[in-house]
Amino acid sequence: MGNNTPGNKNRSLILSVGHTLLKNGAYSEELKISEFGVNFLVANTIHGILTENQINVSMLSNIRIYDKLRVIEQDKPNFVIEVHHNAFNKKCTGFLFMYKKGDKEGKELGESICGHVKYTNIRPCIEVVDIKGNYLIWNSPVSTIIIECSFIDNMPDFSNEITHFEAVTKQLADGILAYLNA
Ligand SMILES: [Zn+2]
Repeated sequence: MGNNTPGNKNRSLILSVGHTLLKNGAYSEELKISEFGVNFLVANTIHGILTENQINVSMLSNIRIYDKLRVIEQDKPNFVIEVHHNAFNKKCTGFLFMYKKGDKEGKELGESICGHVKYTNIRPCIEVVDIKGNYLIWNSPVSTIIIECSFIDNMPDFSNEITHFEAVTKQLADGILAYLNA
């Protein structure tokens, strides 16, 4: 028996792609692309890294939030991470995560990812305290966090993420792995 067995044996994860093809989220005027496609690329790349590291991970993409919740209720993973990109006033930069008030594990997972993100600044995390804060996080039966990778409407912040895409996705995956393997 190897001592290499990580602590993730029974821990499963769903990576959810924020938004859908039809309602595709925040938009970059400069690049004329919206969040959904970028969210998919980030989630899919992280999915590949986690799979290589023997994490039990699956992806949810291009389905409505109600159907997502149904799958989560059926599969009962340990964690759900939904990937997003932020937009505000074109001057904001940085990474942040959102979690449900009282969800200690979700908060720790988010903090672990923050500890590995070097490609941009870290913004304060957001605690979801009611259904208006975030529908998915509030209604999910398991620890669920949202990560906002960068500001898609801020060209320097977003192009930095895209230019360093491999390093960025590795940092995000390393943060997840560090938590699951701890
Ligand atoms: Zn979004």
